[in-house]
Amino acid sequence: TNFSKSTSKKKVVAVVGGGLVGALNACYFAKRGFQVEVFESREDIRQAKIVKGRSINLALSHRGRQALKQVGMEDTIVSKGIPMHSRMIHSLNGTQYPIPYGKKGQCIFVMLCSVTAAAETYSNTKLNFAHKLLNWINHTLTFSLSISLSLFLKYLIVGCDGAFSAIRKQFLRQSRFNFSQTYIPHGYLELTMPPINGEFAMKPNYLHIWPRNTFMMIALPNLDKTFTCTLFMPFDEFENVTTGDQVIEFFQKYFPDAIPLIGADALKRDYFRLPAQAMVSVKCSPYHLSDKCVLMGDAAHAVVPFYGQGMNAGFEDCLVFNEIMDQLNEDFSAVLPEYTRVRVPDDHAIADLAMYNYVEMRSHVNSKWFLFRKYIDNFLHIIMPRTIIPLYTMVTFTRTRYHEAVKRWHWQDKVRNDIVHSSLYKGI
Ligand code: FAD
Repeated sequence: TNFSKSTSKKKVVAVVGGGLVGALNACYFAKRGFQVEVFESREDIRQAKIVKGRSINLALSHRGRQALKQVGMEDTIVSKGIPMHSRMIHSLNGTQYPIPYGKKGQCIFVMLCSVTAAAETYSNTKLNFAHKLLNWINHTLTFSLSISLSLFLKYLIVGCDGAFSAIRKQFLRQSRFNFSQTYIPHGYLELTMPPINGEFAMKPNYLHIWPRNTFMMIALPNLDKTFTCTLFMPFDEFENVTTGDQVIEFFQKYFPDAIPLIGADALKRDYFRLPAQAMVSVKCSPYHLSDKCVLMGDAAHAVVPFYGQGMNAGFEDCLVFNEIMDQLNEDFSAVLPEYTRVRVPDDHAIADLAMYNYVEMRSHVNSKWFLFRKYIDNFLHIIMPRTIIPLYTMVTFTRTRYHEAVKRWHWQDKVRNDIVHSSLYKGI
């Protein structure tokens, strides 16, 4: 294969993994004038007929949008998305009530198109599909189809190859590299809710949630007026449901209002279409190897999906890296360690928060104390907008560093409890 020969003095950047974060990174490096080679194991999904795995409707919030904005892509992506202003909670008895995300006007978007096409518009970027990285030994990256890429001094490798990163394997051989991965007992399964008479079966501008303690279902709207429903449940429970009739029985018990909307026959069939998928949380540090290689996105930090931040955090990685490139004049020997220093505490914080929300979303959304606390937080935010900012707001609608948001949250918790206690004491 003819990989690009760099004509400029700049390094060639090899981005391994052309998913969301890889494609955005390609745009960032291309915009800076680097020669970019993206190696993606899949075929070009825009040409493939069947897209295996998960759908692309993901919640895009402030951090992701800021990262897209920096490379001029925010408007395109947001204009093709669907705004969600509130969560819509579905009770067991079929009633629905909204819980807004924050102040008026704050909303999150369903991201419905990919960034791959944007990466391709740069003439100094080449997308190499069907190139699966098999290994990286000494100075050679070997891809499927017996293609290898000899690394010489002018290469930077950016590992964006997802939660099971092949690039990260190379890091495991290094001394003082920390790594941990945790599978949660839950799996997830996706179901489609079709339109009714050409219209969305439920209100479209909401993230629909059916919290049921240990189970939970959510639904996000798509452009074709369908909803993608995702059922989260412990694997043990998935194993208990083995026939179509059992599926209906299970839905009757926990999600009765969803049966007519998905359709009983479709439900019986689609439930078994794919096995439930596992969810993993991965933490590691450092994120770089000398001045040669850096990890971003899920390759650096896969998080469980309960804060809707995985992709947003990955996009913010690109933005933070870019900011450091500006500060340190693109000197990789300084930029890479600085990126690790700045980003590790934040990505670890969002991994922890996502795990915390895993518990919160399943059980507390039902609890009166939780709702009361949320109410108090929102109230305090209105009267003291600079002092009390709900955690969800900091994470979703600001670029407050994740680890600082956590610190502030602990402090605010104390302030709020003090206020509640002293008010109760004074009989307010
Ligand atoms: P990936 O999207 O995993 O992309 C990695 C790419 O690398 C893939 O294209 C893969 O084919 C390629 N690759 C892998 N191995 C190799 C190899 N050896 N050689 C070459 N290429 C390779 N995040 C949000 O922000 N909002 C949400 O609402 C949200 N919802 C989610 C719901 C679920 C059920 C799940 C599981 C995740 C959700 N996420 C969400 C997280 C989000 O999907 C991920 O954080 C995001 O996709 C990470 O992007 P990435 O590019 O780092 O990795």
